[in-house]
Amino acid sequence: MELAVNLAKRSHCIKAQVGAVLTKETRIISIGYNGPPAGTHNCDEEFPEVGCPRDSKGSCSLALHAEQNAILYAAKNGSAIEGATIYVTLSPCIACARIIFSMKISRVVYLHSYAEYKGIGSDEGVDFLTKFGVDVERYIPTAGFLLQEQSQPIQTPLVGERVA
Ligand SMILES: [Zn+2]
Ligand SMILES: [Zn+2]
Repeated sequence: MELAVNLAKRSHCIKAQVGAVLTKETRIISIGYNGPPAGTHNCDEEFPEVGCPRDSKGSCSLALHAEQNAILYAAKNGSAIEGATIYVTLSPCIACARIIFSMKISRVVYLHSYAEYKGIGSDEGVDFLTKFGVDVERYIPTAGFLLQEQSQPIQTPLVGERVA
């Protein structure tokens, strides 16, 4: 999870920065952070003041989500994703949940809640995954982990924050 938090800092998106680490049998098979596909846009450089173009739900309309980038990279490189665990700094949205389920990832560990970030009542991605048998758990930071987050603050979504 510490690696996922560090990866999130590499995201060029302005509002939300999310990192994901895909692991299999204690080894890292792929990493990802949210952002437009390679070779297209860098939101922070192109839209420093106005922010990324928003989709109808208020998310960056250009970005692939961290989970999608991690899974796509693993798939592109022929890694066996079935049975993997994904660590992600924000719980998966419903679109990512569908992909995670379809790729037969068996466990999801998340740090922050997408529902809290969006100010919505239920974590629909988590609900979907749980309903169809994927293990989902919220990461409980250890003392050392918390210290690290505090000394190097990252742009994590605030509870209840609404995007424009
Ligand atoms: Zn963006
Ligand atoms: Zn997503």
